[in-house]
Amino acid sequence: MSRFVYADNAATTPMSESVYKAMQPYLTEFYGNPSSLYRVGREARRAMTEARMKVAKALGAAEPNEIVFTGGGSQADNLAIRGYVKGRSAKGRKHIITSKIEHHAVLYTCEALEKEGYPVTYLNVDSQGRIDLDQLKEVISDQTAIVSIMAANNEIGTIQDLKAISEIAHAHGAVFHTDAVQAVGHMHLDVQAMGIDMLSLSGHKFRGPKGIGALYVRRGIALEPLVYGGGQERGLASGTENVAGMVGLGQAIEDATGENLDRKMGYVKGLTDKLVEGIMKIPYTHYTGDPVNRLPGTASFVFEAIEGEGLILRLDNAGICGSTGSACSTGSLDPSHVLMAIGLPHEIAHGSLRLTLGEQNTPEDVDYLIEKVAEVVAGLRAMSPVWVDGKPDLSAATDLHSHHH
Ligand SMILES: *Cc1c(COP(=O)(O)O)cnc(C)c1O
Repeated sequence: MSRFVYADNAATTPMSESVYKAMQPYLTEFYGNPSSLYRVGREARRAMTEARMKVAKALGAAEPNEIVFTGGGSQADNLAIRGYVKGRSAKGRKHIITSKIEHHAVLYTCEALEKEGYPVTYLNVDSQGRIDLDQLKEVISDQTAIVSIMAANNEIGTIQDLKAISEIAHAHGAVFHTDAVQAVGHMHLDVQAMGIDMLSLSGHKFRGPKGIGALYVRRGIALEPLVYGGGQERGLASGTENVAGMVGLGQAIEDATGENLDRKMGYVKGLTDKLVEGIMKIPYTHYTGDPVNRLPGTASFVFEAIEGEGLILRLDNAGICGSTGSACSTGSLDPSHVLMAIGLPHEIAHGSLRLTLGEQNTPEDVDYLIEKVAEVVAGLRAMSPVWVDGKPDLSAATDLHSHHH
């Protein structure tokens, strides 16, 4: 009997029963437009207000109206960076600082702004994915508008020192935005204690619905809207509100933070530690990311003499959902920008595997993952032209990747 193990919680998570139940009345009974004055509208507005309070509380925000609901994490990232540099608060400063390992929602926003005349610095990271704070100190100036650095990386799980980054940003009069889409509900965050001025999050990364997210915007920061229209969300994200989504996000963040967070983190970290220990027994395997300061559920590796794509397809046949930063199916021939930024050699970066666990995973899942990954890696190596006499031999093939070119 084959099992089904979902180990791709960094891609998305299954919606929880409690979120589903909380949302239902707002999809059926209370369908009113929150701007309407009659009862089904008023009830929708009340629920929206409550959801906003839950998000504010979970982040340690000073006031609920510092929370702007958006259509997901990507929209929150776009609004933060573009909205800030185009807005009044930037006071004409144009320079943007980010890192080489950001999500594309941040990277491509910065690239687009670069074409519009905003200079961007992409900070380097070390071999474990930690940004270079000395480089940040060197490149920041009184022309820097915003520093945008992710809280935790979606591919390798590395957590950044947010407090240290915000202090450097503030010392130069820049604001600090963090893409915390992977972090919320998976590690402790407090926008006031950590000096975070803007923070992006997304419901579906912590068992809420897809297509709903939020941007925390510290009081006093004036952003230029992303979408113009009816003036919803303080005019920053116009459009009739996704009330059920907001209610679901509120429920999910309440379930994932506060007292529940430590219990969940401890459980998931225990599973992940066991998984890492098991997978690292496979010969010629390298752990990627920071082994200590990492998200509790993220385990990422590279296997020498393996193709990530083949690995994912064979694991799928064994009922396992994982992901790779090396898939050519994503349309690019290169391994992911994150694996390149941590300095992995090209040949090795092609064999990456990311397994991300959640609270719904079990110890039996972990045993099964270890067993099947070892089996699939051995099977693929047996067929690999660069696997000779039980070890990698790069001289055996001119180019491991030649069939793609
Ligand atoms: C998933 C993700 C996003 C995008 O969030 P969506 O809600 O899917 O738009 C942005 N940043 C990071 C780090 C992510 O993991």
